[in-house]
Amino acid sequence: MFVLDSHCDTPSQIYRLTDIGRRNTRGHVDFPRMKEGGVDGAFFALYVPPGLSPAESTSYALELFATLEDAVYGNPDKAAFASSPEEAYANKAKGLTSVFVGIENGSAIQKSLPLLRHFYRMGVRYMTLCHSKDNEICDSCADGHRWGGLSEFGKETVREMNRLGMMIDVSHISDRAFHDVISCSSSPVIASHSCCRALSDHPRNMTDDMLRALAANGGVIQINFYPVFLDAGFARILEESGLEETGDAVEAAFIADPSDNAKREAWYDIMDRLAALPRPSYKKIADHIDHAVSVAGIDHVGLGSDFDGIAVTPSGMDSVADFSLIFKELRERGYSDRDIEKIAGGNFMRVFSAVMA
Ligand SMILES: [Zn+2]
Repeated sequence: MFVLDSHCDTPSQIYRLTDIGRRNTRGHVDFPRMKEGGVDGAFFALYVPPGLSPAESTSYALELFATLEDAVYGNPDKAAFASSPEEAYANKAKGLTSVFVGIENGSAIQKSLPLLRHFYRMGVRYMTLCHSKDNEICDSCADGHRWGGLSEFGKETVREMNRLGMMIDVSHISDRAFHDVISCSSSPVIASHSCCRALSDHPRNMTDDMLRALAANGGVIQINFYPVFLDAGFARILEESGLEETGDAVEAAFIADPSDNAKREAWYDIMDRLAALPRPSYKKIADHIDHAVSVAGIDHVGLGSDFDGIAVTPSGMDSVADFSLIFKELRERGYSDRDIEKIAGGNFMRVFSAVMA
């Protein structure tokens, strides 16, 4: 069995932790804790904040990539890049953790297919089409309706990603953009970190209609661990706490000046206060898996934690070191070893291979 986490924001976190080769007490992902959690590989997202100018967006993605290269090449005994399932299996045979690269937010390519191709040649294997703002490619589920779905450039981008063999990630895009992608793409698509709207009503989550369309396309939904998406009740608790907004500002100040101890402590304090909120249990992740399996089928569900991109995790799932608890829970719910193998990474790897073929 190959255990894959299809989305973590650890490249952004590296600025805060500086060293993911050692076991950290803060942040959610590092190589030692991936081993502890039995995670064989993860997609590390180059997350591009939506507020940046076009030129800044590309240079920011490149800088994150370079930072990630330092982290991976600096730990040759622990990890290695992988740009295909075969490379990942070979890494695992050598005892190495695989680092796959994805881009989160198509703003990184500005409006340029040559840039898209360049990122592919660098080893980027999926692109999340947008983040929380509409961009040149499509509308976001969290913004206005600039295009009414996918733009003309967005359609060209989808076709070029199909041709290159780069996976199209529909997490964050609007419902209409999702349906446009499904009709435009000749390859299966992924939702690298999304939950089910039938269980928790949030625009970031997928409706049952979307899950059925994704299954018909041959794609896969990778369940997100963010308590806000898992449980609408917690979304209200977090909003009332005001901690998320304060936390964002404190975190930005810390990242801007990571050597300042006071700023570091202020960020730690926010993390502790967030963790002290009445968080839903990690078993909610299994609830969303159950639902997605019942609607889309066992061949179309996996895991995309969003670790290091979320300020708070479910209780019992404090970091990637706890990852294997999900499989224990699924076993207790009656899933067979073969089912668990599919959810753990088999389904995603099937799509990965199909897209690259
Ligand atoms: Zn995201």
